[in-house]
Amino acid sequence: MKNVRYLRRVEQLKNLTPSERKTLGRVTERYSFRANDYYLSLADWDNPDDPIRKIIVPQEGELEPFGDLDASNESTNYVAPGCQHKYHSTALLICTEMCGSFCRFCFRKRLFMDDNDEAVVDVSEGIEYIRQNPQITNVLLSGGDPLFLSSRRLDDILTRLRDIPHVGIIRIGSKMPAFNPYRIINDPELCEVLSRHSSPEKRIYVMVHFNVPQELTPAARRGIDLLIRSGAILCNQTPLLKGINDRPEILAELMRQLSFMGVPPYYFFMCRPTEGNKPFALSLVESYQLLEEAKLRESGLAKRARLVMSHESGKVEMVGMTRNHMYLRYHRARNAEDKSRFMIFHRDNDAYWLDDLVPVAEAPHPVSRHGHRAHFGIGPE
Ligand code: SF4
Repeated sequence: MKNVRYLRRVEQLKNLTPSERKTLGRVTERYSFRANDYYLSLADWDNPDDPIRKIIVPQEGELEPFGDLDASNESTNYVAPGCQHKYHSTALLICTEMCGSFCRFCFRKRLFMDDNDEAVVDVSEGIEYIRQNPQITNVLLSGGDPLFLSSRRLDDILTRLRDIPHVGIIRIGSKMPAFNPYRIINDPELCEVLSRHSSPEKRIYVMVHFNVPQELTPAARRGIDLLIRSGAILCNQTPLLKGINDRPEILAELMRQLSFMGVPPYYFFMCRPTEGNKPFALSLVESYQLLEEAKLRESGLAKRARLVMSHESGKVEMVGMTRNHMYLRYHRARNAEDKSRFMIFHRDNDAYWLDDLVPVAEAPHPVSRHGHRAHFGIGPE
């Protein structure tokens, strides 16, 4: 049993010089800082480019102008306090504004700001909304990190969701297995709760968030093993991040280790153009090439994940690229007319987001030899 100690002020970081602490204090006045001694112990403090350090220690570059605080316009998705309904069958419950540490690149860093009230302690209204909307079969507990909640509170939320017959899938998005696996190891009640709500008919999914292989410590592997033994299904999702996991060999190693552990990658996210994220931004072309190169080194489950961007109009997958063009497709769409829509854009090596791309003029609809129009081109069918 290890007691993990949390740090709230950058001045508490022993490994920084006094001038670094002062400079970075200015960054944390804008974007909150939170860390813990377990996760900090994974960093190589002699290496200024250490990825663990970059994940958690503020950088001056965060103050450079870039992106929007709410890059995916999530504020327009709320249907009840703490409840977002973006896709027909999927709802999100933002049930906490706390995490095991704060990732510097978090796309919801606005939640950690004093004047933000998107996360709510009482998600009753959201659960009632889900109950009254039978098309919602898929609920994602998010935040913040839901595994930061007490096991009793998590049990209460899961019990109420399990009481809704049309909710088939409950996903819990969490970086606790990376940030503080002792949250799982030290509290057997957590796995008992997951076990109770993960039945042969309806499993609980835990969407874990490992960014780099250094996070896969013996303690993290123990935490993952406990979650799997509780009956939950685990998948990993990570953004692609400059200076952190932007080398194909690092990404391939992460994919390989996770697939060995029974946690195959699910999504790789393009880093959203969120305010403060300039130091981590990779262009769409860089992200695509990075993942393709990493995939060449792996096989099967290690590379089944999709490369997507969480655009305000939907989840858009980057499916291909040539010297002149980029090919994207809606994996999930907010509006019915975008569902599965395939799009062709002029290749732009400096584009970071869908809105930066210029579409190729709509291609003629080829007629298949069966006489049907093929679903091809940039417009809705
Ligand atoms: S764990 Fe998730 S919600 Fe928390 S800071 Fe990191 S990315 Fe954001």
